[in-house]
Amino acid sequence: MNVLVVGRGGREHSLVQKFVESDQVDRIFAAPGNAGMSQMAECIDTSEQDFDGLVAFARENNVELTVVGPENPLLDGLVDAFQEADLPVFGPTKAAALIEGSKHFAKQLMQEYEIPTAGYEAFSDVEAAQAYIKEKGAPIVVKADGLAAGKGVVVAETVDEALSAAEDMLRNGQFGDASREIVVEEFLAGDEFSLMAFVNGTNVYPMIPAKDHKRAYDGDQGPNTGGMGAFAPVQELNNWSYAFAVEEILKPVAAAMVKEGRPFTGILYAGLIETSVGPKVIEFNARFGDPETQVVLPLLENDLLQVMIDVLDGKNPDLTWSEGVCAGVVVASEGYPGAYEKRRPLPEVEVAEGGFVVHAGTAWEDGKYVSSGGRVLLIGNKGEDLAQALDRTYQSLRPFENQSDFFYRRDIGRSSVSSAAP
Ligand code: ATP
Repeated sequence: MNVLVVGRGGREHSLVQKFVESDQVDRIFAAPGNAGMSQMAECIDTSEQDFDGLVAFARENNVELTVVGPENPLLDGLVDAFQEADLPVFGPTKAAALIEGSKHFAKQLMQEYEIPTAGYEAFSDVEAAQAYIKEKGAPIVVKADGLAAGKGVVVAETVDEALSAAEDMLRNGQFGDASREIVVEEFLAGDEFSLMAFVNGTNVYPMIPAKDHKRAYDGDQGPNTGGMGAFAPVQELNNWSYAFAVEEILKPVAAAMVKEGRPFTGILYAGLIETSVGPKVIEFNARFGDPETQVVLPLLENDLLQVMIDVLDGKNPDLTWSEGVCAGVVVASEGYPGAYEKRRPLPEVEVAEGGFVVHAGTAWEDGKYVSSGGRVLLIGNKGEDLAQALDRTYQSLRPFENQSDFFYRRDIGRSSVSSAAP
């Protein structure tokens, strides 16, 4: 069977690595892919947004399943284009991807179907938003309604900070169309975790919970990034909270999407906070998380292609997971998420058995890998427990230890090692 993976990041490289393990796969194509993916897939020079090009390629190359990684083509209707062409595709339609594309829509849905989340109001008028912020006080969270590349959320510690975030978004058009409307939300305190599930309509098949680390520097300091490292499963999460997140959040929201005439097929990702009264939703994404996917898929024992085929056919894929924990640490270009140099040569990385290297922003130049993006690689490994997985991972990171062109966080998973159940 020929498979096409749409995207160019670490998440998509990880999908390709998993498809390579499948006996059913003949050829793997990636559009446009990256330097790491080109070692195991045929990368084609077609962008994620070139819908006609992707449809034509899939048709001409007998692609029997296309998997879409990133959110932008999903929100713009790539799955709809494949469906109209009668080509098999795994991902939500444009209508279903709105759960990620509009925070106001997601909040309304949760309110209507009583899915636990932070209290909120949505605004397009700056004075009304600011009056609400003053009434509620700080801390308070201000969010652009649409996609803003992970930068559209301000967790304001003071009322003034929240007032200026509302001003920037609504009056100054900080994120263009994405901030024509904002959501102002109650601040939730607690530990964050992510839970992804394979979904088809009302059928929900949850994965293991994962935790990522969004801030750039150790100790959760510095600016937010796309994610600097992750691990799975989250052993400190108790069984009750996991079951609650599946039964009271993922399943009802999938059923709600069906009722709303927006049935969801693909990966539903819930960003959750474990509050004192149980998990509550921070956000939904309509696709695999990055970097969570890179640490969740290595523990999946099933053939990923078969899982996706089963889910599309309405069958239970009977997910099974390896024992142990998988951890991954991102190597980023110095300066990321701000400005950084590109084309810096990467040192050789050796990984112990069970370990892996996932490429994101890399290119192949003159016989060696060089950097081409902010997040460059994710290096990961498995272990019997989190401490062992991290130990193995950090050993493989040694070649980057004294590199001034790159940096990585030294404390991924550390606070969970001490609190993990024995
Ligand atoms: P992503 O880049 O993952 O798509 P996003 O830009 O859509 O993120 P959110 O995930 O909604 O934004 O929020 C970003 C971060 O802000 C969260 O990971 C969380 O740390 C914090 N946050 C968001 N909402 C709340 C809240 N209600 N209470 C406390 N913290 C919050």
